Amino acid sequence: MPLISSFDPWKNSTCTCPPKLTLNPYSGCDHGCLYCYASSYVQNFAECRPKKDLLQALKREAAKLKGEIVSISNSSDPYPRAEAGAGLTRRCLEILSESNCRIQIITKSNIVTRDDDLLTKVPSSVALTITTDDDNLARILEPHAPSSTERLRAAQDLIGAGIPVSVRIDPIIPLVNDDPSKLIATLAGIGVKHITSSTYKPKPDNWRRLSQALPKIAEKLKPLYFQQGERVGGNTLLPKDLRFKLLSNVRELASARGMKFGVCREGLPTLNTAACDGSWLIPAAAR
Ligand code: SF4
Repeated sequence: MPLISSFDPWKNSTCTCPPKLTLNPYSGCDHGCLYCYASSYVQNFAECRPKKDLLQALKREAAKLKGEIVSISNSSDPYPRAEAGAGLTRRCLEILSESNCRIQIITKSNIVTRDDDLLTKVPSSVALTITTDDDNLARILEPHAPSSTERLRAAQDLIGAGIPVSVRIDPIIPLVNDDPSKLIATLAGIGVKHITSSTYKPKPDNWRRLSQALPKIAEKLKPLYFQQGERVGGNTLLPKDLRFKLLSNVRELASARGMKFGVCREGLPTLNTAACDGSWLIPAAAR
């Protein structure tokens, strides 16, 4: 299995991402998000560890790149807490910044700002996941990730350094973070150009975590997902009309502030006003 591989090789019917490659410097993740999907298919997920032979394999594979987008990361976060000391993602970026590629970082950590010198050497963008502007709620949803305030400051710093930023309000959980109006106004004010959003999709282990942390909410969500919901692209989703209502609201809020919008694996591609993942923000050629 190559280290840099095709994103979504299974061609999920709900995925509207443009073609891109994916690289995960780490297996597992230590942010501990209640809603994490990757924890259902990666063993010992909370034990974050570097990929085997990471740097040697990356050097070999990066030499063969021909201008593709490399998305870092999609089944883990490239900036877990350990990255502050280990610097493995930074070393990957050092290699990639000398290669023929374009980079999309996906993270919920402000450690990414440490690497702005490398991200300005190569066409790149950063997608920061910010599910709420309420630090107390974020501590429940994403217990070990940097606070929302720190992530917002990171977005501002990256934009200040000339690196385009999109924000993933992802996932939206009904009754928990389904009114992002204040967050979107803040994001527009700091110069974010694109919002990607999706609704929460329960898997057995993330549903267990959510039910333990937010039992009253889980009780209300249960019939919405497990009686009235639908199966789409291998996922259990909210009823279509409710997904449409929640995500249209985000789209309208974003559009009213001049931002583009895309949905992630919802079976609602007509809501997209640009490439869903915000990759249109990556400059076409070296700066
Ligand atoms: S940051 Fe992403 S991969 Fe890590 S626990 Fe949270 S949702 Fe999972």
